Amino acid sequence: MTANVILKEVQAFLDQPSQLFIGGQWQDAKSKQTFMIENPATEQSLAVVAKGNADDVDLAVEAAQQAFKSWRYEAPVVRAKLLNKLADLIEQKAEELAQIITLENGKPLLYSRRECLGAINLLRYFAGFATKIEGRTVPVSTAPTANFLNYTLRDPVGVCALIVPWNFPLTMCVGKLAPAMAVGCTTILKPADQTPLIAIRLMQLFEEAGFPKGVVNLVTGSGRDVGEPLSSHMKVNKVTFTGSTDVGKSIAQQATSNMKRVTLELGGKSPNIILPDADIDKAVAGAASAIFYNQGQVCTAGSRLYVHESILDEVLEKLKIAAQSMTITNGLDESSTMGPLVSKRQYETVMRYIERAQEDGAELIVGGQRPEGLEKGYYVQPTIFLDKDEKTCIAKEEIFGPVLTVMPWTDIDDLVERANNSVYGLAAGIWTKDLANAHTIAARLEAGSVWINCYNVVDPVSPFGGYKQSGWGREMSHDVIEAYTETKNVCVNLV
Ligand code: NAP
Ligand code: MG
Repeated sequence: MTANVILKEVQAFLDQPSQLFIGGQWQDAKSKQTFMIENPATEQSLAVVAKGNADDVDLAVEAAQQAFKSWRYEAPVVRAKLLNKLADLIEQKAEELAQIITLENGKPLLYSRRECLGAINLLRYFAGFATKIEGRTVPVSTAPTANFLNYTLRDPVGVCALIVPWNFPLTMCVGKLAPAMAVGCTTILKPADQTPLIAIRLMQLFEEAGFPKGVVNLVTGSGRDVGEPLSSHMKVNKVTFTGSTDVGKSIAQQATSNMKRVTLELGGKSPNIILPDADIDKAVAGAASAIFYNQGQVCTAGSRLYVHESILDEVLEKLKIAAQSMTITNGLDESSTMGPLVSKRQYETVMRYIERAQEDGAELIVGGQRPEGLEKGYYVQPTIFLDKDEKTCIAKEEIFGPVLTVMPWTDIDDLVERANNSVYGLAAGIWTKDLANAHTIAARLEAGSVWINCYNVVDPVSPFGGYKQSGWGREMSHDVIEAYTETKNVCVNLV
């Protein structure tokens, strides 16, 4: 195995204590406190980061408010140019950024590089929107004899708090920042306390690209110290959050302080369905990647696999081989296809689910342990359980780890009911050669994204978000532009 050497730029970045970025200035937290970031592959400390709190949040909101006064009127083409410049910088520094992502999150470099590409695509896509935020002109019939000019404008919503998790630490930030910037909002970003480093590096690139001061601000620190003051702040106009459903609910409540706009992208327990006529090899490869990609720490993870009874044995046998063929090692090794989980806490949560699954009577097909030979790091083997009666906790609860629950089915109506029988409704997969059948099932599933003969195809052009307790609103695509703007109707009497 060839472990990549840490680039000298990355080492220099890690060695420098990281500060908050507020109003274009790098500064310590008001409290002067800091916290340590850990490498989940080695359990060693990686870097020291400023620990912000409500005082720093106040400063950042003030800076964002000031910047909003001019940024909202900046020529759209200038906003587009800056976003494209940032995309170019990420492209130039992709290898450096990918290493930072792998070091703090643990994921294989292969996927950290993909995150960089995702961030570039998001920026270029939303840069295009800056010049295309349009209103409508609509005739009125209220007073037929009058001569009215009646039209709509789309105004940027204002100061936005962006609270992101650790599972895609770069694309989560960019996916929220890019549309907010494109429409003329200003922002305060709060990354997860496990993965703030890539967000800090991203702020340096914002600075290098030439964004005006205060348009983007960064306050690192915990959910309690930074996330809560942001969500309840009276001068924040919108909060957009990705993370757990429990925290999402508390953010929605805090946001009522001033009725700020809220977008929530929360958990999932997504059904992935294999029909008897599917190409079994493709379906198995897709099902394995749907759950094992990113160590299973994906909100859309295909964690409930429904397999038609007639092909159950073959699918289980092939899935087992797929799980055993993964290369589990430090994400910095080029050969790695699975790295450690993000933290000790996440590792313990997942291991506890594996124990509970066995207590509940699920049949372990493969995995279930720490991989041999890896003494340090939060590694968990790709794990598959069979749960014939769909009775175990792992058939219902989001695990956020590489643990798949396989369940057989026979009747299509019963299957659709079971697939929809979840508090979540984020995503679903269908594997079949019969596309008429696939479209019919897709129409009946309660899920924000349905993938047919593919999985996890997330693209800036496709609206992304959940039904039920998987969230409020949609991100990406045209839909998110609406979420960062207010509609104003202007009616003019021309006589
Ligand atoms: P989390 O607690 O929901 O954290 C997500 C973000 O929200 C982090 O930046 C977090 O800050 C912040 N936060 C936490 N409490 C907050 C509060 N009261 N007000 C405002 N912001 C707050 O997720 P987690 O603890 O990292 O992971 C726990 C579980 O959440 C996972 O096992 C998984 O099930 C789920 N999850 C889902 C997604 C997804 O993509 N939908 C992503 C990550 C996790 P700090 O972490 O810095 O304290
Ligand atoms: Mg956390």
